[in-house]
Amino acid sequence: MSYEPVIGLEIHVQLATRTKMFCACDLAFGDEPNTHTCPVCLAHPGALPVTNGQALCSTSALSGGTYAINGKYSGDSTYGSGVAGPITQVITGGSVAAGLTIDSSSYTASVGQGVTFTVVVTGPAPASGTVRFTDGGNSIPNCESVGVSNGSATCTTSSLSAGTHAIRGYYSGDGSNSAGVAGPITETIR
Ligand SMILES: [Zn+2]
Repeated sequence: MSYEPVIGLEIHVQLATRTKMFCACDLAFGDEPNTHTCPVCLAHPGALPVTNGQALCSTSALSGGTYAINGKYSGDSTYGSGVAGPITQVITGGSVAAGLTIDSSSYTASVGQGVTFTVVVTGPAPASGTVRFTDGGNSIPNCESVGVSNGSATCTTSSLSAGTHAIRGYYSGDGSNSAGVAGPITETIR
C-alpha cells in the first residue's frame, strides 16, 4: 500500500482593515476570546463568506496588454512585509495608442536615388497591421500597404521628384494597438 501525503498550509495575515477578510466581524484586539464571531467565521453550515472590500483591488483601468500583478503587503509589528505574486493578467480587446516613429535612410537625396523610410511601432503588445506611406497627401507607389514585421515597416522608393516632401506613415492599428500617424518628416530631393 502506498500513501499520498497531502500537506496543508495555513497562513496568518493581519489585515489593515476594520473587519475580518470573509465576514463583518470586528478584528480589534484585546477583547474576550470568541466575542468577535458570527455564523460565517464559525463556519456554520450554510453560512457564505462575504469578502472585505478593503482587502480587494478591483480595476477596470487596465488597457490591452499583458501585466504582471503583485500584491505588496506592508507588514506590521508582528508580520514582516511580503509580496504575493506576480500573476499574469492578460487584457484583450482594448487598444492602446502605439508609439510611432518614422525615419529616413537619407534625409537629402538625388533624383532617382533610392531612399528607405522606416516606421517603428512601439506598442504594449507585439504589433501587426500595415503602414501606408504617403508623400504629401498621396500614397507612395508600392508602399500603400506594408506589413508590420518585428515592430517595423519599410518603404523604399526612388520615385520622388525634386523638391521637399512631407513623408508620413499611417499605421492601421490591430487588436491591441490603435491606429496612428508617424511623421511627417521632411525629405529633400535635389
Ligand atoms: Zn465573523
